[in-house]
Amino acid sequence: MADERFDAIVVGAGPAGITAAKEMAVAGLSVVVLERGQYPGAKNVSGGILYRHPTEEMCPGFETEAPLERPIVEQRYLVLTEDAMLGGIYRSMKFAEQPYNAYSVLRSEFDRWYATKAEEAGAEVYPEFTVTDVLWEDGRVAGVTTGEPDGELLAHCVVLADGANSLLAQRVGLHREWAPIDQALVAKELIALPAEKIEDRFALPAGLGTAYEIFGESTWGLLGYGFIYTNKESISIGTGALLQDLIETGINVNDMLDRFKRHPAITPLIAGGETIEYSAHLIPEGGFDRLPQLYADGAVVVGDAAGLVNPLNREGANLAMLSGRLAGQAIVEAKQRDDFSIASLSRYRELLDDSIVIKDLRKIRRVTPFAHARPHLLRDYPQLASDIAREYLTVDGTAKKDKQAKIAGILRRLPKKRLVGDAVGAVRSMT
Ligand SMILES: Cc1cc2nc3c(=O)[nH]c(=O)nc-3n(C[C@H](O)[C@H](O)[C@H](O)COP(=O)(O)OP(=O)(O)OC[C@H]3O[C@@H](n4cnc5c(N)ncnc54)[C@H](O)[C@@H]3O)c2cc1C
Repeated sequence: MADERFDAIVVGAGPAGITAAKEMAVAGLSVVVLERGQYPGAKNVSGGILYRHPTEEMCPGFETEAPLERPIVEQRYLVLTEDAMLGGIYRSMKFAEQPYNAYSVLRSEFDRWYATKAEEAGAEVYPEFTVTDVLWEDGRVAGVTTGEPDGELLAHCVVLADGANSLLAQRVGLHREWAPIDQALVAKELIALPAEKIEDRFALPAGLGTAYEIFGESTWGLLGYGFIYTNKESISIGTGALLQDLIETGINVNDMLDRFKRHPAITPLIAGGETIEYSAHLIPEGGFDRLPQLYADGAVVVGDAAGLVNPLNREGANLAMLSGRLAGQAIVEAKQRDDFSIASLSRYRELLDDSIVIKDLRKIRRVTPFAHARPHLLRDYPQLASDIAREYLTVDGTAKKDKQAKIAGILRRLPKKRLVGDAVGAVRSMT
């Protein structure tokens, strides 16, 4: 590699790294992106919902060029019990009009395309380079190495965009390995199905898509959820839970996904499909209270590597992009000051604090602890709701008054104190 000092080296060509690289290259900085995958996107795992508005802000006009699957016009929140499925649907044909709200994407295609935008801005993107460590000069980060004899590269600033399990952020001392309680492990498959089958099974107008988030039996009652998203000619299906709960219960996410796929309400949706891709991946879900130090002398950390994920609203890629952009802006300013010290790069945190990234993470900080402390939420309530629905819907000669009494009896199974505590806790965790 060349014996020169770049303005910035970005490690990882996911949405965070590519957005940071693009931001800096547009401002005229010399930027190199190193990606361990065969190509950007080759190693990236996502359910695949990409929100239009934030993506448009990062990359104006992306809809006319980017490889997109289906505009999402429907969201379903469902719960499964062993034999039943119930829940809520919101489908709006407003979502089928421009400007769309969200698309399904295949990250292997989208990320590959997105990386070309950083290249067009002037960044150099090199796949098949795994960074094994950072380089230090006088106690500050001064570059990276791939561990090869000629694999050292110097820069004024290193952007750590290496994803959920950022070994490099640990090497820099920005954070320790995430604790099992602070990350979810998710297994995902891509199942090929003809477009018409997808549209028939999900009752979709041609070319449009749906997103299902499914709780309860989909995770064996653990805190987490299953998902099904429709692509043009495939379905993304996955499920996962907090790593700590998986470890404690001994449940394997592969088994969880198999069981989810075998559920009587799910099997018909994927029947006859061929699994063409399988992956398992971590999601950092520690949220606001577990955010690491985000900058050091000569380095910043962005996206999943920094734990900037909002699992409640399924926002990972857009927060990764925004944090990449803000880190890029802070580095451009640092370049103008010719000062890449920790004090100078603290501007990144200021920008983040002012953005929806930190505002939203702060807002939802109590939700996961609230739900995790109440395992019955995803076990007892779905069953109760299913029992009530079945009782109500079954026409069996029982007078409606007696039915009502039966339903009241089912409700009485719930300790009142717990019900009130859960309701109050739920409201408090969201305010
Ligand atoms: C199953 C699943 C479903 C999800 N669904 C959604 C969804 O529907 N919508 C959404 O917005 N978010 C979703 N997310 C979250 C989203 O995928 C992430 O938040 C997002 O990809 C983070 O982007 P990133 O650039 O920070 O990291 P990544 O996309 O993980 O990119 C990191 C990159 O760094 C590279 N890398 C790592 N180490 C090195 C190294 N040492 N040297 C060189 N390169 C390296 C990797 O190969 C990778 O390309 C999901 C995540 C999972 C696991």
